[in-house]
Amino acid sequence: EEVKEPPRIHRLDESVVNRIAAGEVIQRPVSAVKELVENSLDASSTSISVLVKDGGLKLIQVSDDGHGIRYEDLPILCERHTTSKLSKYEDLQSIKSMGFRGEALASMTYVGHVTVTTITRGQLHGYRVSYRDGVMENEPKACAAVKGTQIIENLFYNMVARRKTLQNSADDYTKIVDLLSRFAIHHIDVSFSCRKHGAARADVHSVATPSRLNAIRSVYGLSVAQNLIKIEASDNDPSSSVFEMDGFISNSNYVAKKTTMVLFINDRLVECTALKRALEVVYVATLPKASKPFIYMSITLPPEHVDVNVHPTKREVSLLNQEVIVEKIQSVVESVLRNSNESRTFQEQT
Ligand code: ADP
Ligand code: MG
Repeated sequence: EEVKEPPRIHRLDESVVNRIAAGEVIQRPVSAVKELVENSLDASSTSISVLVKDGGLKLIQVSDDGHGIRYEDLPILCERHTTSKLSKYEDLQSIKSMGFRGEALASMTYVGHVTVTTITRGQLHGYRVSYRDGVMENEPKACAAVKGTQIIENLFYNMVARRKTLQNSADDYTKIVDLLSRFAIHHIDVSFSCRKHGAARADVHSVATPSRLNAIRSVYGLSVAQNLIKIEASDNDPSSSVFEMDGFISNSNYVAKKTTMVLFINDRLVECTALKRALEVVYVATLPKASKPFIYMSITLPPEHVDVNVHPTKREVSLLNQEVIVEKIQSVVESVLRNSNESRTFQEQT
C-alpha cells in the first residue's frame, strides 16, 4: 500500500489569520452592534443612536456624543490589538470598561467596510476616514461634526458564504432591538434609540431618567412596568459569598410565554443559565398561573470574583461561589413573590 508524504506546514498570511479571527468575533450583525454600542458607552456617551438597514447586513450606523478619537490615533484605530483601555495584563483584574482587547473595530474591517467620523472636545472640525482589512484607506479628511463619534459599517460585503447563510434570517433586526432594549434599561443615564433605515419611528427610544421603572416603561411598555416588584439582596460573608443585587421582577398579573431575563453583572450584559432556571422554578412553584417571568437584575461582585477575560462572543458567565449566590437570590425572589401574592389574595377578599 502507498505511504503518503506528509503535507508541508506553512505559516498563514496575516490577512488570512485576521479574517478568520474576525469571523469569530463578528458572527452576526448584532455582534457588531454590541461592540459598537459598548465602545460608545466606554467613551462616556450620554446619547447613543443606532440605525440599521436590512437587519444590519447592508448597514449599521452607531452615533454617540462621547469623547471622540484623537486625530493622531486614527492611523492605528482599526489595527488588531490596539486599544486605549488596557496596558498591563494585571489591569484586567480591575478593568471597568466593556472593551479591552482592541479587536472589535479591526474585526469589522476584515468582514466589512468601516467609516469613522469623530471629533474631540474643543476642536473646530472633525475627521472622516475609512478602513478596510485593518488599515486606513486614505488620509483622514476634515469634516463638519457635532460631538462624539459615528461609525458606519457595511458588513460581510466581502464574505460570500457568510452573506448567503445570513440572508434568510429575518430576525437579525429583532436581535438588535432586543440588545438595545437591554442596554437601555440598565444604563438609565444614557439615551438610546434604535431605528430601521427609512422608518419614521424608533423601535427603541429611551430618554435619560433617574427612574429605572420609567426606563422599563418606555422600552418594554406599560403592561410590563406596571406589573413589576422591586427586589434587593446582598451578602457580605467572605467565607461564602459577597454580592449586591437589585432589580425588578414580574408579579402574578404579568403574563408571557417566554422568560425575559435581563442580567448585568458588574455592568456587563451577560447570561447565567443557572440563575435563570432557578428563578423560573420559583415562579412555577409560587404563582398559580405559572407565567414566565420578566426579570431585570443587576449584580455587583468583587471584580476578582468574575473572569472578564472570556471570548467576546461568550456571554455565559461563571462566578465564584455561584451556587451560594443563586440560592440566596432564589430565596429572596421566592419570599417577595409569596408576600405579593398573599397581599393580593387578601385585597381580593376584602
Ligand atoms: P477596545 O474597545 O477593546 O479597546 P475596539 O476595537 O472596540 O477595542 O476599539 C479600539 C479603540 O478605539 C478603543 O480602545 C477606543 O479608544 C477607540 N474607540 C472605539 N470606538 C470609540 C467611540 N465610539 N468613541 C471613542 N473612542 C472609540
Ligand atoms: Mg470595543
